[in-house]
Amino acid sequence: MARYTDAKCRLCRREGAKLFLKGTRCETVKCSWHRREKVPGMHNWQRGKVSDYKKGLREKQKVKRFYGLLERQFKRYFRMAEIEKGNTGMNLLKIIETRLDNAVLRGGFALSRAQGRQLVCHGHIKVNGKRVDIPSYLLKTGDVITVQDRENSKKQVKENMEQAKTREPVSWLAVNEAGLEITVVKEPTREDVSIPIEEQLVVELLSR
Ligand code: SF4
Repeated sequence: MARYTDAKCRLCRREGAKLFLKGTRCETVKCSWHRREKVPGMHNWQRGKVSDYKKGLREKQKVKRFYGLLERQFKRYFRMAEIEKGNTGMNLLKIIETRLDNAVLRGGFALSRAQGRQLVCHGHIKVNGKRVDIPSYLLKTGDVITVQDRENSKKQVKENMEQAKTREPVSWLAVNEAGLEITVVKEPTREDVSIPIEEQLVVELLSR
């Protein structure tokens, strides 16, 4: 039986969901998720009834790991979601989904969120014509993401886009491959958030 030798793959196993932390590898047969049916160790982790608190905690951890968030950032997004009109759980996912590092991944400029964050931090990305090096920058409808006018920036993004072609597009972004441009055309919907999460459990946990 295959072993989880990689720390990121072990996180997927621990959270009980594919978190797509290793770029294109996660979409191939090399993904460790498909190679092992049981959790490590002699016994299964969860035995007996799991409390609602624990379930909520697990769902929260899943979101944090999926998007690579710190506790402080997560709580800030939750407060923003509470203030907004509508369903708090959906608002929360929508806010997190519009982070610049995530959009760079969803639009195909990067192959993983970690790489998206690196592209942003290293100054390869512009929003509405201005350099933005803050991965947590929240995008609005109408924002346009482009690549710095530098040879190495364009080369890297073009290579990533080539590899990301097989991915399912998301409805809230329009991608212009030739122009290396991603436009935010609307707010993300629940279907755009690919993580298998019960956001209501997170809301109940944080509303206690
Ligand atoms: Fe590893 Fe698969 Fe999780 Fe990617 S999705 S981090 S390859 S277990």
